[in-house]
Amino acid sequence: MTSAVVVGAGPNGLAAAAFLAKAGLEVTVLEAADEIGGGTRSSEALLPGLLHDHCSAIHPTAVTSPALRALGLDRYGLRWRTADVDCVHPLDDGSAGVLLRSVPDTARLLGPDGDRYQALFTTPVRHWDALAHDALGPLLRLPSHPLLLARFGLPTTLPATVLGRLFRTPQARALWAGVAAHAMRSLSRPFTSAIGLGILTAGHAAGWAVAEGGSQSIAHAMERVLREHGGTVHTGVRVTDRRQLPPADVTLLDLDPGQVAALYGDRLPARVRDAYRRFRRAPAVFKLDLAVEGGVPWTNAHARRASTVHLGGPLAEVARAERDVVAGRMPERPFVLVGQQYLADPARSAGDVHPVYTYAHVPHGYDADATEAILGQLERFAPGARDRIVGLRATPPARFAAANPNFTGGDIITGAKTAPQLLLGPRPALDPYATGLPGVFLCSAATPPGPGAHGLCGAGAAAAALRQLGLRATPGSATPQTADRDW
Ligand SMILES: Cc1cc2nc3c(=O)[nH]c(=O)nc-3n(C[C@H](O)[C@H](O)[C@H](O)COP(=O)(O)OP(=O)(O)OC[C@H]3O[C@@H](n4cnc5c(N)ncnc54)[C@H](O)[C@@H]3O)c2cc1C
Repeated sequence: MTSAVVVGAGPNGLAAAAFLAKAGLEVTVLEAADEIGGGTRSSEALLPGLLHDHCSAIHPTAVTSPALRALGLDRYGLRWRTADVDCVHPLDDGSAGVLLRSVPDTARLLGPDGDRYQALFTTPVRHWDALAHDALGPLLRLPSHPLLLARFGLPTTLPATVLGRLFRTPQARALWAGVAAHAMRSLSRPFTSAIGLGILTAGHAAGWAVAEGGSQSIAHAMERVLREHGGTVHTGVRVTDRRQLPPADVTLLDLDPGQVAALYGDRLPARVRDAYRRFRRAPAVFKLDLAVEGGVPWTNAHARRASTVHLGGPLAEVARAERDVVAGRMPERPFVLVGQQYLADPARSAGDVHPVYTYAHVPHGYDADATEAILGQLERFAPGARDRIVGLRATPPARFAAANPNFTGGDIITGAKTAPQLLLGPRPALDPYATGLPGVFLCSAATPPGPGAHGLCGAGAAAAALRQLGLRATPGSATPQTADRDW
């Protein structure tokens, strides 16, 4: 029987393993941590009965992911839930940019910017399913919908600060800046609109959803697919030497390129090894999980109903804070993301005490305490929030890196999203998953389409491995792209 080893049980490792097992391979997964999930783990680490997501929280790209859909995860227990409001970006005067599920409803709340917002998103959202096939895969290939991709792709090349000028109101500009800040780059750089446009389009298509029971439910559903097809998972196995790996026909690595260079350095083609060693890392996050009695008392009423709240003030302030963290300076008022997943999934709360998830963008490897900076931003838009906090747990960059070697220096997006790394992954190649070593593939979020719990990097790498083995995915086992388009 043809065999595969997958190192790392993050969403991409698990997706790769599930697709390979469905295609008939004997699959073994080795995971360093004591539990599977990587960036999709959740626990009651703060207070009993209060469920917090360790890493990923909000999943517009996972809900619409062709890979997760093809795995049929709803049949394996995964349920998506959305709050009344997707995302809010409050300003100091109590007003806010407000993102709702529907484009027309969002446009209505954006007032004078509504028409421009509709012009930007109506077509891509309507065609997102078709567009996702092209936009969420390796770039160096023929697109199936070239005109659609070109129309979507053109604004993605713009610096986010330039695209922001499309809007006139501070609310619309701030809303855009907060979403664009997910790129964790200086927003005046080219292509910094790409991630924001992608998240907004996917979100309008399917909602800024959370996974019922925590993000861990995504990993558990994929593990069930894998086990149903005979796959096995071994936790507590950190692979630091390739001699630890059992013999297999293909090996898929849910690792950052630096780890792959360390494992295979002397065997990798020199150009690949050098590219992996040069791979640039992103700034970091400092996370603060809070237990908040009665919820956060936001000044803006929409924020009280939103699963995500972005804190950072007007566009210019967000852009300044992002520029600072990229340059290695900690801003006084950093960009802060607040997750209120319990509004979509109420079972995560314990009575009237709610799990509130916050993190600030901080410089790579930041080793000071950002607690006060985060709480300061929270108080700014929700006076009295501090008085409601009954539990608090900080996760600094070093702890992210200790829990998961892929998050070196607290970089949670597996590499800086500079234009080349965003578009091509760690190196320019027709097959971004190939390492140049026959049978060895990279499947982590360092590869296209990049970070997120969508499993698409894993699906792409699995398809590349099956191709090299001369195998096709079994009917119904792969995404339309992997089956029909041969990623
Ligand atoms: C705080 C935070 C917030 C985030 N928010 C969101 C969000 O809201 N929405 C979203 O879509 N994404 C979010 N992300 C990003 C998302 O979690 C990641 O992009 C995603 O988890 C990447 O998946 P992966 O499988 O490539 O790698 P990972 O999730 O990093 O998984 C890699 C796995 O490999 C294991 N591993 C690493 N090295 C070794 C080794 N040497 N031997 C054995 N095992 C090893 C790790 O323990 C881990 O389990 C967030 C991440 C963080 C940390």
